[in-house]
Amino acid sequence: MHGDGGFPQVDFSRNACTFCHACVDACKQPIFHHDAKPWHAVAVIDQRCLTQQQVYCQNCKDACGERAIRFQFGRNGMSHPQILLDACTGCGACVAPCPTQAIRIQTDTPGTST
Ligand code: SF4
Ligand code: SF4
Repeated sequence: MHGDGGFPQVDFSRNACTFCHACVDACKQPIFHHDAKPWHAVAVIDQRCLTQQQVYCQNCKDACGERAIRFQFGRNGMSHPQILLDACTGCGACVAPCPTQAIRIQTDTPGTST
């Protein structure tokens, strides 16, 4: 999709990135990382997470093929999601399944935030 200024922007609310590299192959500019991770972005969960309101939900964990979301018990007896930063690829698969839009993909690379 077109983001600010007409630049391409990934919309994780629609789908995840499969890292097929089609955009890397098509783009003539040296903007993509060529190291172990395709981009430097990770999922971030905010206070809108249902578990903050004592409501059970593990949609994000179920959607994460990298097993980068683990749940840990808090003081209130609820289990809360935590992102394992070393495992998170920033694929965005956890964004759309979250019923409260509590997850965003955070990066300092323009065009890849939600
Ligand atoms: S899917 Fe959203 S509401 Fe559900 S546990 Fe994950 S962050 Fe919380
Ligand atoms: S962005 Fe991808 S790898 Fe990271 S927590 Fe979400 S689903 Fe898992």
